[in-house]
Amino acid sequence: MKALVFEEYGGPEVLQWKDIDDPKAGPNDVVIEVKATAINYNDVWGRRGAPMEVELPHISGSDASGVVVDKGSEVTSHSIGDEVVVHCGRPAFNNRTGQECNIWGYDWPALDGAHGQYVRVPAENAVPKPTNLTHEEAASFPLVLVTTWRKLVEKAPVKPGDHVLIWGAAGGLGVMAIQIARLFQAHPIAVASSDEKLELCKDLGAEFLINRKTQDVRQEMRNIVGRRGAEVVFEHPGQATMGLSVQLCSWGGTVVTSGATSGYDANIDLRHIFFRQVKLVGSTLGTVHQLQDALDQVQAGHIKPVIDRVLPMKDAGQGQTLLETEEVAGKVILVPD
Ligand code: NDP
Repeated sequence: MKALVFEEYGGPEVLQWKDIDDPKAGPNDVVIEVKATAINYNDVWGRRGAPMEVELPHISGSDASGVVVDKGSEVTSHSIGDEVVVHCGRPAFNNRTGQECNIWGYDWPALDGAHGQYVRVPAENAVPKPTNLTHEEAASFPLVLVTTWRKLVEKAPVKPGDHVLIWGAAGGLGVMAIQIARLFQAHPIAVASSDEKLELCKDLGAEFLINRKTQDVRQEMRNIVGRRGAEVVFEHPGQATMGLSVQLCSWGGTVVTSGATSGYDANIDLRHIFFRQVKLVGSTLGTVHQLQDALDQVQAGHIKPVIDRVLPMKDAGQGQTLLETEEVAGKVILVPD
């Protein structure tokens, strides 16, 4: 089979589309023929080897939609020919939260990621593909969907009537956040860097739009919610936005964060945390049960995929660069041919 492998850290040029051995199912695994996969930001972190080194040689990819072509001797939950998507969280094994701690395709040891023609995953991570979606559409969801579901539904948690400030609202997490906020009768406030991206956010249900390049986010927030702030702030850019996120959060509201695209060294005025009793909550991935709950909403047509473009898998480097330069609205999908 062919897969996209890197043997050293660096730019997109380190990615090689090369022959490797076919994966073999262990007793509790399934092997999936990958029909489509997606690019996520952790593919970029892995390829750079920073801020955290990953195992080398490495195959990235944390999302897949495909067909089960082999299964281990102990697997009774799946049949050959099942159409599945993959939950990318490694079941909890060693942390106090009891929650997922490793991401498939990034830091899950000894398990290659989705950027190949075939993949092996534990059977418990393969869940039924929504029947109303193509493989390309289905591959656009799992990681960003489950991460956003946990952030908004479990961690915030978002309530009817809340204002939800969503950074990077046209990005992978953002397009899910708009739709999930709407699903829970909240008011999504979308922030993005272009009017084209904001048009997409509006189509997805954003009630308020802020162009962070041409408008003053603080002033626009004041126009929308007054001095009160947003009950929920959906954080992930990190260093560039975290200080403002805390200031724009309402009294007793929640800033829920899962990323640090622009850097880790955030500068926070702590007076806003303790005087106004703002909650700063961390979140990563979600459980396979949370993914299934969210996929039920996909199957019901309440959450839709947002695909920026589809590329051949061997051109993943080009797709990664689009993420790095913030040119993507929704998801970049990869297909093997
Ligand atoms: P995308 O690249 O799809 O979207 C990120 C968006 O962030 C961009 O579209 C951009 O929007 C916005 N952004 C980037 N830099 C800045 C900045 N300096 N100020 C304000 N906005 C900025 O990525 P994802 O949505 O898939 O992921 C976002 C982050 O979350 C990544 O760091 C990723 O690693 C992390 N993540 C963490 C997970 C976890 O479980 N912990 C799971 C999934 C993602 P615009 O330019 O339009 O404003």
